[in-house]
Amino acid sequence: MKYRSIALDGPAGAGKSTMARRLAEELGFVYVDTGAIYRTVGYHMDLMGIGPKDIDGITRLIDDVNLQITYDEQGVQHMILNGTDVSGEIRTPEMSMIASTISAHKIVRDFLLDTQRDIARSYNTVMDGRDIGTVVLPHADVKIYLTATPEVRAKRRCDQLAEAGKKVDEKKILQEILKRDEQDMNRPVAPLRQAKDAVLVDSSNQTPDETLSEILSIIRAKLG
Ligand code: C5P
Repeated sequence: MKYRSIALDGPAGAGKSTMARRLAEELGFVYVDTGAIYRTVGYHMDLMGIGPKDIDGITRLIDDVNLQITYDEQGVQHMILNGTDVSGEIRTPEMSMIASTISAHKIVRDFLLDTQRDIARSYNTVMDGRDIGTVVLPHADVKIYLTATPEVRAKRRCDQLAEAGKKVDEKKILQEILKRDEQDMNRPVAPLRQAKDAVLVDSSNQTPDETLSEILSIIRAKLG
């Protein structure tokens, strides 16, 4: 049986994970937030005292990373690192930057490629990330490139962090988002870019419900 896959790429804070989760719920697919996977690898290295640019340290320790993805009753993805749920720990601005720096290494991307492809081979999936439509699933049935202005993305990220009870500085978050965009778009391996056959969705002036319904109509038109 061939499973269906939907690739949802875009810059930080565009609302990809929320959309991926809601789309998966609507369609009865599994959703995979691949950013969380990179964050978990970054978290492991940080715990072990390995900096995100320390390629020798990362190479030495990468095989110790045992990842499991689980979902709670609300359908929210959890990351289990060597038996411990680290889903809360990976959601900090520091971990965002560490994930962005560590994800530029080919060894890290190669290590995670099969994990991501295996999921898409085993389930109908909505997978969100940076290189899903270009590298991980180049033959995805539907490809969406979801974006919004940096200011809107920073505001949304701040709201999310505040909701989780974390202290936020909107200016700092905007700078962090711009720096991550720059790093993610300009790295030599699997840079963030819109796949040629991806449909662009700009959510800057939309409510989440409007974005969801735009993406759903693109998917229904393609999948029938
Ligand atoms: O999506 P999220 O903000 O959680 O991703 C954290 C970082 O992981 C991104 O800034 C990006 O550098 C990296 N990433 C990636 N490829 C993906 C998903 C995330 O390089 N498919």
